Amino acid sequence: MSDLFLYNTLSRQKEKFKSIKKGEVGLYTCGPTVYNYAHLGNLRTYLFEDFLVRVLEYNNYRVQQVMNITDVGHLTGDQDMGEDKMEKSANREGKSAWEIAEFYTRAFKKDLQALNIKAPSQWCKVTEVIPEQIALIKQLEKRAYTYRTSDGIYFNTAKLQDYNKLSHLPLEKLKEGARVEKNIEKKNPTDFALWKFSPKDVQRQMEWPSPWGVGFPGWHVECSTISLKYLSSQLDIHCGGIDHINIHHTNEIAQSEAATGKKFFNYWLHGAFLNIPGGKKMAKSADNFLTLNKALLKNNINPLAYRFAALQVHYRKPMEYSVRGIKQAEQGLQSLLKQVASLGTKIGKINPKYKQQFLLAINDDLNLPQALAISANLLKSNLSAPDKLATILDFDRVLALNLDLASQSIKSKLVFQDLPITVQKLITIREEARLQKNWAKADQLRKKIELAGYLIEDQKDSYQISKLN
Ligand code: AMP
Ligand code: ZN
Repeated sequence: MSDLFLYNTLSRQKEKFKSIKKGEVGLYTCGPTVYNYAHLGNLRTYLFEDFLVRVLEYNNYRVQQVMNITDVGHLTGDQDMGEDKMEKSANREGKSAWEIAEFYTRAFKKDLQALNIKAPSQWCKVTEVIPEQIALIKQLEKRAYTYRTSDGIYFNTAKLQDYNKLSHLPLEKLKEGARVEKNIEKKNPTDFALWKFSPKDVQRQMEWPSPWGVGFPGWHVECSTISLKYLSSQLDIHCGGIDHINIHHTNEIAQSEAATGKKFFNYWLHGAFLNIPGGKKMAKSADNFLTLNKALLKNNINPLAYRFAALQVHYRKPMEYSVRGIKQAEQGLQSLLKQVASLGTKIGKINPKYKQQFLLAINDDLNLPQALAISANLLKSNLSAPDKLATILDFDRVLALNLDLASQSIKSKLVFQDLPITVQKLITIREEARLQKNWAKADQLRKKIELAGYLIEDQKDSYQISKLN
């Protein structure tokens, strides 16, 4: 085995990874706010986190991964001001905030499945841990880190010496990040809300009683609470996109360490952005975002082409999304699948030389572009076809490009991208109908799929498809 090195935002260096418990890793990945579909940028971050999980597992760690589902609050401004995203979507779509959360949670889980992103070992909805969040705030209050303003309970960041240890920015710079809409009652510009009061003149759909008044938790409190609830004895790695470094993760560390007096996570890993051509970040708020469905499935592009594209760019480098780029990635994936299919069905031995090269690449801060190059060299090498097949299938534990399905050995399992395009389209429309609970339309589409020669069977969050004889 070789050592695993990861770039830690806390130290700004690649560090040798050492878990708290031998052979086990506690991993926290900030989850989605379920008021809209995830966009390809969000999905790039979840892909990077999946690469990390699979690399840890390839290194024989058991990974306990926890992800939150933010189904409450989360205001449109970073500085605890603005409208509530969940309630805004609910009003726009004429649904309750709870229905919105359920709908987009299901959609999110489907996206993860389509990209072969492993589900975390533990999901946690923010609305399920309101008492625990209140307990954390009470602990901070007891330790004199909080103060009250007319709109909520705030954390006093001036009480910490090392508030900026993750961002490495002088406090004045962090101040510059503050949005135009300022709360003049805050003692320091970097202070943040732990509990927000419901406005007096508006009836909120999601609100709870608390020792300080009816309201809802501040955004950062959720991730601290859920991490401490599920990973208290194994706070190994915490991840997210780079936009979370200066505010969200900085505030998570501040309040968690203030409440417990202990270090909150040893390693902090951050993924770079997915940009649109021209270098602008893909963002929900900028209205330039593409979903997996719109960009790929509706254009008959295999969703795994996006996974393949993400594997080609190191997670700490910006990635650009373009139609041309994704089509090239699809061709690259097709060519890889063809090469694997041509190896036949006999599985030989994993080649130790290529395995070692692959391991060194992925253990060098997840160098997956290099791992792909090694895979290409393996396929070009003069090893026997069965040994090549054994080795590439071993690599696919990390790459997760369904290379096992390309190999002739497992043809009975049907996957989306093996189906005729007409059937893929029917399934995509039917999945949308199911998400919208339009059962009549879903039934009609099931019949059409049967007429095309396939049987579709629904499962809780997915479906299974087989060929009718
Ligand atoms: P949000 O739902 O906005 O909290 O975002 C979910 C995750 O996606 C977070 O980890 C963000 O850092 C990440 N993210 C948001 N926009 C992008 C982008 N354009 N590229 C990569 N990651 C992103
Ligand atoms: Zn978070």
